[in-house]
Amino acid sequence: MTTESTTAPVSNFLRSIIDQDLKAQRHASKRWGGKPGPAQVHATADVDPARIRTRFPPEPNGYLHIGHAKSICLNFGLARDYLGACHLRFDDTNPEKEEQEYVDAIIDMVHWLGFDWKFQNETNLYFASDYFEDMYAFAEALIQGGFAYVDEQSPEQMRETRGTLTSPGTNSPWRDRPADESLTLLREMRDGKHPDGSMALRAKIDMASPNINLRDPVMYRIRHAEHHRTGDKWCIYPMYSWAHPVEDALEQITHSICTLEFEDQRPFYNWTLERLRDLGFLADPLPQQYEFARLYLSYVVTSKRKLRQLVVENHVNGWDDPRMPTLAGLRRRGYTPESIRLFCERIGVSKADSRIDYSILEQALRDDLDPKAPRSVAVLDPIKLIITNYPEGQSEECTAPAHPKDPDAGQRTFPLTRELWIERDDFRIEPEKKYFRLYPGNTVRLKYGYVVTCTGYKQDDQGNVTEVYVEYLPDTKSGTPGADSVKVKGNITWISVEHAIPATVRLYDRLFSDPHPDTGDKDFLALLNPNSLTTVEAWVEPGLVAEPGANWQFERLGYFIADREESTPEKPVLNRTATLRDTWV
Ligand code: ATP
Ligand code: MG
Repeated sequence: MTTESTTAPVSNFLRSIIDQDLKAQRHASKRWGGKPGPAQVHATADVDPARIRTRFPPEPNGYLHIGHAKSICLNFGLARDYLGACHLRFDDTNPEKEEQEYVDAIIDMVHWLGFDWKFQNETNLYFASDYFEDMYAFAEALIQGGFAYVDEQSPEQMRETRGTLTSPGTNSPWRDRPADESLTLLREMRDGKHPDGSMALRAKIDMASPNINLRDPVMYRIRHAEHHRTGDKWCIYPMYSWAHPVEDALEQITHSICTLEFEDQRPFYNWTLERLRDLGFLADPLPQQYEFARLYLSYVVTSKRKLRQLVVENHVNGWDDPRMPTLAGLRRRGYTPESIRLFCERIGVSKADSRIDYSILEQALRDDLDPKAPRSVAVLDPIKLIITNYPEGQSEECTAPAHPKDPDAGQRTFPLTRELWIERDDFRIEPEKKYFRLYPGNTVRLKYGYVVTCTGYKQDDQGNVTEVYVEYLPDTKSGTPGADSVKVKGNITWISVEHAIPATVRLYDRLFSDPHPDTGDKDFLALLNPNSLTTVEAWVEPGLVAEPGANWQFERLGYFIADREESTPEKPVLNRTATLRDTWV
């Protein structure tokens, strides 16, 4: 694990469980053969040097989003804090939707968040598809043990005979067929002799169980589909709810942490592990499943299906569009790994579902960047300011701290000249109440420069202000003894017209205008905010080098990053990560 906790971790119910398990030495005799496998791989090995094993098990069928970050920080964080190992396991049991592209992107993002899957000299990066042989052997053994059967009902028939929450299901006519017959059929299924949906392997548990998940759940189905790693070697694939406990057990996971909707699956999880233990494939202590509440963040959707739809239908510009709640999108927007980890720490872990406001994520970003982002100046909506009593062709250096809270960061300098760019909003022909910036007759400070008094302005035919005129007071330059001789209420930022660097700046608003686009039967596409992206041609401070990924706080405007894909020092493209204050109250 590469990331150190900066503060003592906040306790939560999972930490309490682990504390108790360690105290009771629940896993103290668990062995680890150095690689995943059934009991015999571990039986004669040393005791596992990892005190706990957790896992993050994404399905490689899309990009990771902020919800996954919660699970990543939780699982990798627990392993780090308890001197354990966290495995990155690709749960690739669903061949149609999975691709190598997603595998690569997931690896990249977990690393970016600051975590890795190394423990001592182990690299705990695994694929569920590597366990297909073991899983298949277990399936045959479960049939032989009388715990599974091949059902020739159609998927529709199975659905109809499953019963409801209030009524029991009915047994399949194939339920009591001899084990040998099921075995022969399973082998034929594996050998490609039967079409998709014609039969399935089911666990033989209890069609009258009050828990519908225990009414003979399907373990294997036929899918004549190409798998991104095993190609066409298999045409039967295990179901997630059966495969998952097997994957955990092969990897000697101690604490299998998943989201609340899997609570009802826990009995089947335990049933599977106990049967396989009784058959000699697994050894105690078995993995234990625990559930926590998933993250629901306001103003975004986090279902992969909906995120994919946004991408495929071009509502956004790809998975890493800076408006997307994907980790790739957040990175491009300017979120730092530290800010996302801080956010996950702040929201905590519990068993109660709750919605987290997007502003909490933004505040974590500000809290992370405020002490470290270098300061700079930009003008997003420029009008020209002319200092009429300042000589043409003259230029002088002004000095500002690189970071106001960090004297060690040193100073930056930039030239002041007769013509400057200022924000259009910093001038009024007629000021409203409490407006302290420029208007005819008012005096303000050009930040880090001189005090100036507004003497007039020019308008075009449409009445738009095109130029603002001021006179400066020569003895008032910031940092000189005369600086405080004139008191002013307004302080405005500016950039020398001659020296300003042009930049394309993207200003973002919420992707959705509804706080909960994801809920109920809302048409989430109809709730897209049409103004989520505004692109402006702006000016930035001379000396700013827009290397991709560089970031700044532009005074008064917020945090910005040079776009990772499109920015170059010659042609800066900057994304606003967040404003300085929450403007969404
Ligand atoms: P989807 O249903 O949108 O496809 P998923 O939950 O199936 O998402 P996986 O790739 O299976 O996505 O998720 C990997 C892990 O991340 C799971 O263990 C899951 O519990 C966790 N996870 C996914 N979404 C969230 C979320 N919003 N909050 C917390 N954990 C999450
Ligand atoms: Mg899933």
